[in-house]
Amino acid sequence: MDVYDTVCDNISYKEKYLRLRSEFETYQNFAESTIQIMSEKNSNLEKKLDSMTNIVEISKYINSYLSDKNLIPMINDMILGILGATYSSIYIMEDSKLSIKATNYKYKKANLCTEECYKELVNGNPFIINSKTPLFSQGLKTNEIHSMIGVPIDLREKFIGYIIVEHELNNFFGYDHIKFIYTIANQIAIALENNALYNQIRENSIRDPLLGIYNRKYFFDNIEGKINRNQKRNFAIVMMDIDNFKDANDSYGHQFGDIVLKGTTQIIQDNIDKHDIIARYGGEEIVIYIKDAFDSKDVYSKINNIRSKISNNKINYGKVSDKITASFGISYYPKDGNTLQDVISVADARLYVAKKTGKNKVIDK
Ligand code: GH3
Ligand code: MG
Ligand code: MG
Repeated sequence: MDVYDTVCDNISYKEKYLRLRSEFETYQNFAESTIQIMSEKNSNLEKKLDSMTNIVEISKYINSYLSDKNLIPMINDMILGILGATYSSIYIMEDSKLSIKATNYKYKKANLCTEECYKELVNGNPFIINSKTPLFSQGLKTNEIHSMIGVPIDLREKFIGYIIVEHELNNFFGYDHIKFIYTIANQIAIALENNALYNQIRENSIRDPLLGIYNRKYFFDNIEGKINRNQKRNFAIVMMDIDNFKDANDSYGHQFGDIVLKGTTQIIQDNIDKHDIIARYGGEEIVIYIKDAFDSKDVYSKINNIRSKISNNKINYGKVSDKITASFGISYYPKDGNTLQDVISVADARLYVAKKTGKNKVIDK
């Protein structure tokens, strides 16, 4: 090897080195930026996964507490916990009025939504407000609020309430939060609907559809439950049957009969006490549980007063105007029997005596 070669070699090594170094740097930059993109994607995915997990957990939780009356406060606590918000409040429409169902804000009555944001919510639009100056400056808030979101709760496109979440930091909330609260709003709407359906089904199964009072099964379950819980009770059972009802039906029609039944039920309801219970026993037979029956004279006069009111009540139906009467049998627990069935049988036998001895009367012995 001569000198010339060595110089050439040095140049070519240097060139090679520089080329390699530049290639390496390009790869390194590329790899670094790829890693950065990947890790951003990863963190976004993690965030999404987190919020998905939260949503799934919330759904599970909500579904398992569907009929719990504390469901809405529980959901509100979840919002606070997950978002780390300062305040969260849930409003629900009840009897055409908005009522606050859950909040961690101590002045519960204050309406946190301004007129403007309320308009947005009713129209189905969520809102975000961010402000450098505190949003509520009248000293109403314990903490100064600089960021606030509101999301409507809609059920089948009908506005039924809204959720308001607030934070002390300006620009704390963004559209991701709105999306998250929307999911919760949907869950609340479904939970409320399920709850209403559950209550409706339960009501249907315990009430008589024509008269709206309890049915015989519920009456038995309820009173037997009372006896089981405490045998040392003193109550009365009253059996009532309308007199000559078949004739009234035959003369004026079934609809007139229904009106008689409803009117008679109303008179009884208006003249019993809060803790007494009325139920439809059979066709036009009504059974009444009188809670406090220590004095049989009081019970008798209470029922005789009802009998008198029924007999003086004019029933008007189209051109028909007539009065009806009813007969009553009263028995007592535990004097007349140790089981509900026994006490009812005695009341029934006394009702039979009332029918046989002229009707429109109360028999209690
Ligand atoms: P009594 O004075 O002995 O009780 O004579 P009554 O005609 O009332 O005889 P009963 O108590 O056996 O009458 C039952 C009648 O009640 C027969 C049926 O047509 C009528 N009824 C039962 N349920 C209803 C109802 O939901 N609506 C109407 N309109 N009538 C009913
Ligand atoms: Mg009858
Ligand atoms: Mg009858």
